Amino acid sequence: MEQKNRAWKVAVIGAGPAGVYTSSILLKRLEEKASLLDIPEDAHIDVFEKNPAPYGLVRYGVAPDHPAIKLISQALDRAIESEKISLYCNVCYGKDIGIKDLLPRYDAVIFATGGGEDGKWELAGRKIEGVCSAGEIAGWYNSMPGLTCPPLSSRAAAIVGGGNSALDVARMLLQDPYSLSKTDMPHDIWAKLASSCVQEVHIFIRRGVEANKFSAPQIRQLKACSKLILDDFSKESLEKFDPQERTAREIKNELETSGPENKKKSYMHFSSSVSSLFAPEKKLEAIEISRNIGGKKSADFCLRTNLCVSAVGWRSKKLEGIPFDESKGVIANNEGRVKPKIYVSGWAKRGCNGLIGSTKADASQTVDMILSDWKESGQKEIDDSPMEAFLNGRNVMFSGKAGWFVLERYEAALGKPDNKRSVKVKSAGEMRRISSLA
Ligand SMILES: Cc1cc2nc3c(=O)[nH]c(=O)nc-3n(C[C@H](O)[C@H](O)[C@H](O)COP(=O)(O)OP(=O)(O)OC[C@H]3O[C@@H](n4cnc5c(N)ncnc54)[C@H](O)[C@@H]3O)c2cc1C
Repeated sequence: MEQKNRAWKVAVIGAGPAGVYTSSILLKRLEEKASLLDIPEDAHIDVFEKNPAPYGLVRYGVAPDHPAIKLISQALDRAIESEKISLYCNVCYGKDIGIKDLLPRYDAVIFATGGGEDGKWELAGRKIEGVCSAGEIAGWYNSMPGLTCPPLSSRAAAIVGGGNSALDVARMLLQDPYSLSKTDMPHDIWAKLASSCVQEVHIFIRRGVEANKFSAPQIRQLKACSKLILDDFSKESLEKFDPQERTAREIKNELETSGPENKKKSYMHFSSSVSSLFAPEKKLEAIEISRNIGGKKSADFCLRTNLCVSAVGWRSKKLEGIPFDESKGVIANNEGRVKPKIYVSGWAKRGCNGLIGSTKADASQTVDMILSDWKESGQKEIDDSPMEAFLNGRNVMFSGKAGWFVLERYEAALGKPDNKRSVKVKSAGEMRRISSLA
């Protein structure tokens, strides 16, 4: 079969921002540069997503009360509208499809699988009711299928971690129910948060105030829904902290004031960690806090709580047949190149931190790597039989782009009566049923 100058065929695993940006940047770059590189300028990209809906953490991580960021999904929609991109939802790499199926069919396989695992928290307590990760609680309030409401029955909740996702979770636990009522949460999730007993959130940050990782706007938003209180040790550390850099000065300024009087409180405890969990009958009742000073831990106080959330970051998940860098928790790569024909982009490439915007720059680097490899290698023969037939042969109940757009319109219609942009469907079966109406 004559295959010279055919369209390049690319598989992208993961339809989060990295997968979508990498796809659209690759198409654009080919249009602009293919003739200069003397390679075919046409490409077709198949994007495989394990969930029934695309967009990864834009849908299931970003807090519902950040509607402007949630709107990035509209830009991602515009990108995948391209007829050169096909979407296959409900297709999980490692289960429904593997690298041996992909390599003969594609000129490049790009992994954009994000951060699939929670970072390591030294305290093993995951089987205890009331101990969960930020990914689980953010997934729950974002309607991720299969997740349940954590206990919200105690006055105090604890969060371990000093990054923006710790503050996101704190804010969501303390947020005024009225302001959440306009988000895309289904009513039952909203009702659970609205009737929560949590009145104060304690944030335990392992390192000192000088090493904090959250942003000034995030602290401002927390102060808009709660009174911010630093414990005495943290207050003293803050006084001694004299940053020269502008962003750190802004953070210090924000931490120096409590915000308006509010019956809800957010406490920050720097140089602190949770040293034990009290959980008779495997239900969390209290935690013990230690202060970390000069590399030594000393017991500090106990807090009665039914909820302790670990927000200590994420790691990428090891994928079948793909080299993994255990120390960094990412797919092993050199500027996006993993092995011949295999590439990586987004959190799975550079580690699980950074905002959606940084994913774009990162995607661009991976695309440069692919183009330079294509110029070197030229086109080889591939199996261009239809992917639909392959997936049907494996009994994979995939849904395509049309199915996603139907689901999106359905969610928009659910929001209409309450003047909301949309309300999410949270059952995977229901999502699949609606998508199948396309
Ligand atoms: C709680 C939280 C809040 C955040 N809030 C903000 C914010 O307010 N603003 C901001 O700019 N950034 C925010 N971020 C960061 C932002 O979400 C990330 O920068 C971005 O989502 C990373 O994109 P990604 O595509 O690499 O990963 P992801 O968004 O995780 O996408 C990966 C995709 O791959 C899919 N996938 C994984 N494994 C497989 C497999 N085996 N087969 C098929 N598909 C697979 C996943 O289902 C997912 O759809 C937040 C992150 C978190 C965790």
